[in-house]
Order: sequence, then C-alpha cells, then structure tokens
Amino acid sequence: MADIKGFLKYERELPSRRPVPVRLRDWKEVYEEFPEDHLQKQAARCMDCGIPFCNDGCPLGNLIPDWNDLVYRDRWRDAIERLHATNNFPEFTGRLCPAPCEGACVLGINQDPVTIKQVEVEIIDRAFEEGWVTPVLPSTKTGKKVAVVGSGPAGLAAAQQLTRAGHDVVVFERADRIGGLLRYGIPEFKMEKRHIDRRLDQMAAEGTEFRTNANVGVDVPVEDLRRDFDAIVLAGGATQWRDLPIPGREGDGVHQAMEYLPWANKAQQGDLAVDEVPINAAGKNVVIIGGGDTGADCLGTAHRQGAASVHQFEIMPRPPEERPDANPWPTYPMVYKVTSAHEEGGDRVYSVNTEEFVRDGDGNLVGLKAHEVEMVDGRFQKVEGSDFQLECELVLLAMGFTGPESGGLLDHLDVDRDERSNVARDAVYKTNLDDVWVCGDMGRGQSLIVWAIAEGRACAAAVDEALMGETALPVPVAPTDRPLV
Ligand SMILES: Cc1cc2nc3c(=O)[nH]c(=O)nc-3n(C[C@H](O)[C@H](O)[C@H](O)COP(=O)(O)OP(=O)(O)OC[C@H]3O[C@@H](n4cnc5c(N)ncnc54)[C@H](O)[C@@H]3O)c2cc1C
Ligand code: SF4
Repeated sequence: MADIKGFLKYERELPSRRPVPVRLRDWKEVYEEFPEDHLQKQAARCMDCGIPFCNDGCPLGNLIPDWNDLVYRDRWRDAIERLHATNNFPEFTGRLCPAPCEGACVLGINQDPVTIKQVEVEIIDRAFEEGWVTPVLPSTKTGKKVAVVGSGPAGLAAAQQLTRAGHDVVVFERADRIGGLLRYGIPEFKMEKRHIDRRLDQMAAEGTEFRTNANVGVDVPVEDLRRDFDAIVLAGGATQWRDLPIPGREGDGVHQAMEYLPWANKAQQGDLAVDEVPINAAGKNVVIIGGGDTGADCLGTAHRQGAASVHQFEIMPRPPEERPDANPWPTYPMVYKVTSAHEEGGDRVYSVNTEEFVRDGDGNLVGLKAHEVEMVDGRFQKVEGSDFQLECELVLLAMGFTGPESGGLLDHLDVDRDERSNVARDAVYKTNLDDVWVCGDMGRGQSLIVWAIAEGRACAAAVDEALMGETALPVPVAPTDRPLV
C-alpha cells in the first residue's frame, strides 16, 4: 500500500484546465501539466483495498491498486508493465473513459474517489516519452491469416493481440485513416490524434498491416476475405444514427453529429482549412439535440468554430448533483456533469422536446419549435402552454446510434442479428458463421472505448484458441459479463 494515511492526508486533485478564452483559440487538449509530486499524492490516496472494487468496475479488469502503488514508489517502468498487462491503449482510456472504476472506488463511499484515470494517463504518457513503448514481436509465426474489419478501438485491440500471438493480421478500414470514432468522432480537444498515430507506429512495427479506403462488402468482396483468411473479426462499430423525422427535417441546416464532427477532425489533420469545413457553426445560432457526450463534443467544436450561440437540448430531466438512493456506490453515478465543453459556454436545456424545424420561403433553416415535457407513468407528456420557438441556423442531432449499419458488409455476410439489430454472438464472440467473430459496438451496440478494447482482447483470445487449439492470450470479459457500469 502506497501510504497508509494517504487518503486522510490528501484531497482529490485533478489538473487544471487551460483558461476558456485561451483554449477556445486552438484545438489542443484542454488540460495543463500535472506536477509529478501532485500525482504521487493522488496515487497515495489509494487504500489498496482487500477487495478492490475499482478493479471490478473496470471492464478491462485493470490492476489499479498495483499501479497506484508503483507510481507512488517512483517505479514507473513497472507501472506501465502492469497497465499494459490488461489494457492495450491506456492513452485512449486515460483521456476518454468515463471511469467506471472511479465510480466503484471504495473511497467514494464517503470521500472523493482516487483519481485513477489521471494516474493511468500519466503512466502511459511517461512511458512513451521515455521510449518504453516498443514493438512486442511474436516469438513464432503461426502461418494463420486473420482479417479485422474496422479500425476503432475494438478492431485495433483484437489486431494487436492476434499479431502478437503470431498471426498475420490485416485491418481493413473504409475511411481514409485508421482509428474509427477515435479518429473522426472524438474531437482533437478531447484527444489529440498524435496519440493514435504513435500507437499505430508500434502496431505496424509489430507486423499488423493496415488497409485504408477498403470498405469490405463494397470495395473489398466479402468472399475474398472468406477465401483468403482463416478467420474474420468484425469490428465495424454501431454507426447507424438515430434520426428526428419531424416536419422541416429535410433540407440544409439539420445534420447528424457524425456528419459534422469528422470535418472538424479532418481540418485538424490538415486536409482542409478550419474555415473551409462544409458544415460550419461560425456566426450561427446552433441547437444541439441530445444532451450526452456526443452532444458535448459538438458543443466544444461549435464554440471553437465561432458559433454565435449554442443551446444543447435534452429530453430527460437534469440529473441530480448527488447519487440518488436508487444509484448507490459502487454503480456508475448518473449525476450532473460539467465537461470541459460545458465549461466553455452554451445553454443546457432539459426536459425539452423538439416538434418542428422552421424554414423560410427559400427553405433555409431559421428556427425550431419545442415544448417542455414531464414524465407521467413512465412516458413523456407535453407540458401544456410551454411551447416556445428558438432562432437557429444550424441543428446538430446527437441522439445516439441504433446499431450497426445495414448494407455492404452485413448484406453480403449471412450473420444473424440479435433483437437490437447488433451482430449476434455467443459467449466467445463467435457469430453463426464458423470463421467469423464480432467484437466492440458492432456486437454490443453503442458503448464505450473501454468496452471496445476489452471485447477486442477477449475476442482475439477466442480466435487464437479456435485457430491453434489453445491460447496464451488473456481473456478479460465475456460479452454476457455485466460489471458495475
Ligand atoms: C462523437 C462520439 C464521441 C464519443 N466519445 C467517447 C468518449 O469520450 N469515451 C468513450 O468511452 N466512448 C466515446 N464514444 C463511444 C466510442 O467511441 C465507441 O464506443 C467506440 O469507438 C467503439 O469502438 P469500435 O471499435 O467498436 O467501433 P468504431 O470506433 O465505431 O470503429 C468502427 C470502424 O469500422 C469501420 N467500418 C465499418 N464498416 C466497415 C466495412 N464494411 N469495411 C471497413 N471498415 C468498416 C468504420 O469506418 C469505423 O472506422 C463516443 C462516440 C461518439 C460517436
Ligand atoms: S477501490 Fe479505490 S482505494 Fe480501493 S484499491 Fe481501488 S483505487 Fe484504491
């Protein structure tokens, strides 16, 4: 245990965010450096619990008390080994995870939990800086070939594990760059894309092959994959967005979040100038429909583009400040959160339903009509007399995703779908086809990066075992496991 009185001596502390007016002038990550002695005090708050609920709360089963202790003792190289033992990409989760581990931390019963995520990201950033993240080469080659379809966190985790097990792995990605939603969904200010690139360098050096602009089922026939590879891992995500088919929906000015965010990310990659993006919030009154994290990503992006005003609508009521009785420790706390994007401005409007997009005689979007709602017997009902109209020239729909896209790949591959339209799989990630497995959002539905990595790792172990009769790869979770998230 790091310091037996650490949790009594030190308060929870996180790095400061850069001042809002400064960070809105660029697209860089928002956090300042966190001094090492401050981080070590945070690690010292860990009680090294006999039953570490943090470890159960993490879908990857991260060995959190171990690396808290190692950081406190200045044993950073050992810490990254413990971290990499369960997580291929801590630089992604350390920046982007909602940290169910912290929600489950025992300290959270009557104090603020340990800053687990901050310790995680500092360990991996230091490891990259020190040159400790080097290719891990397989000791033998198996001669087996595996195709991974999709290069989000699930596909990348599966590919890295399978390459390290000695298989020849090719990742097929329909986009022009590797990374999935990490690359084109999540904005630069939440995670700079250089973090993906340096990890891809490691993977390429290990032997994973990447093919971009390769849409399987469209440019690359599914039959070719089934003929040329011993196993196929589907990791195509759950990218079918939910729409809002109300009057005025058709026409310019109303766009899906995932039509909007990729352009801002492409501009940050140097493909076009920031002011050349085809969907641009500059000078516009913007309404984001959807109060979740994707909506917050649109909010931060709109402010950086120079929106005149931004409202973020949410149909659900405002969450409570503290855990309600029905949401006790160690379940994931569903409480009111202020993300960095919310701190930057905009109005958050709760319990509101949009019923019409208003257009002028030329078809231009000029506003929307909405009203308040309340929950009655488990259903939303309009609050009579609460109608209002709001001026806006850009609406962004951030209402979630309903499952994997149909067409192309799934039309040509005769895989079963489950009742939620995800690709059905058994306890070892296998579809109804003998040579096809599925992991990440494509099998699970819209979820989290940490789950995508956990499933990619477990799916790799299942594929390796099927190909070789045994596996030495670790198996973090089965798809039917439900931890405390
Ligand atoms: C805007 C946004 C922000 C988010 N922010 C967070 C966050 O902060 N933290 C968090 O934990 N989660 C976040 N999520 C959720 C998280 O990104 C996903 O759960 C995660 O990326 C799923 O990983 P995946 O590998 O299963 O799929 P994806 O990341 O969706 O990757 C799937 C890839 O497959 C490719 N593909 C699909 N079909 C084919 C085909 N036929 N041929 C070739 N390639 C194909 C797609 O182009 C895509 O690149 C966010 C989601 C969105 C939309
Ligand atoms: S639950 Fe919290 S205090 Fe206990 S071991 Fe995990 S991080 Fe440390």
